[in-house]
Amino acid sequence: MRRMLLVAAAIALLGIVVGCATQETAKTPEPVKVETAKAEPAQPKPLVQYVDTPTGRWMIHDESRPAPPIIAPGAECGAAPSDAVVLFDGTEESLKNWTDGKFTDGKPNPVKWRFVDGHMESVKGGGYAQTVAKFGSCQLHVEFATPSRVIGNGQGRGNSGVFLQGEFEVQVLDSYENKTYPDGQCAALYGRSVPLVNTCRKPGEWQSYDIVFHSAIFDKDGKIVRKPTFTIFQNGVLVQDHVTLEGGTQWKGPHAISDFQPIPDRGPIQLQDHGNPVRYRNVWIRELKD
Ligand code: MG
Repeated sequence: MRRMLLVAAAIALLGIVVGCATQETAKTPEPVKVETAKAEPAQPKPLVQYVDTPTGRWMIHDESRPAPPIIAPGAECGAAPSDAVVLFDGTEESLKNWTDGKFTDGKPNPVKWRFVDGHMESVKGGGYAQTVAKFGSCQLHVEFATPSRVIGNGQGRGNSGVFLQGEFEVQVLDSYENKTYPDGQCAALYGRSVPLVNTCRKPGEWQSYDIVFHSAIFDKDGKIVRKPTFTIFQNGVLVQDHVTLEGGTQWKGPHAISDFQPIPDRGPIQLQDHGNPVRYRNVWIRELKD
């Protein structure tokens, strides 16, 4: 009997030990194995070794790609390059490129400006000087000087202008210490865009405009389908940075802006007679493809 009790006690004791061991195991959970997705090795992007251009698809650094034409630059800064159309170079011969905009017997009238010492000067009442030829998008170089004898103020001092496509005015004005409305000072797109800076030289000193112009295009119903843009350097300084005109630059009275008026794709370059003797020289143009 006693032996049976000992065996039972041993079995009970073993059960307790096993139970404790079981509880201990439950307190320490197996670490959860997280299956992580293996990152794919980064694939290098395929190299793009060509560019699509208006002349077709070309491999980078392809020596058979058409090279630009070679043109000779002007002999000095501001002189016409070899592919420019010279509109006025200070010779009487080049005056034949200009007219007052009227015709006699089907031939353009001569310009009614003064021709002196290699420049032409506006004459009050003489009307605009405009090119016989007509142009659309272009690069235009013009040199001008407002009168050295300062008379008047505001818009009345050294007023002239350079018109592109026979329509859009880049203002010429003596804006050296001469206050006026900013969208009408020198290098303004008149009534539309104030120049970035005033970089005018003193009255009587020669100055330059270098203008990159993309023309306005109208459809057959007179609706504008491409607005004109201007980039302008005055005396080598950027004054209009790819500005899009949102309408015309014509004078419509104080505080009135003009709408676009339908015009042909090409028009003359015009120099304004505004009653002040403003001089011009060294005018040349390079036509641009649209
Ligand atoms: Mg003007």
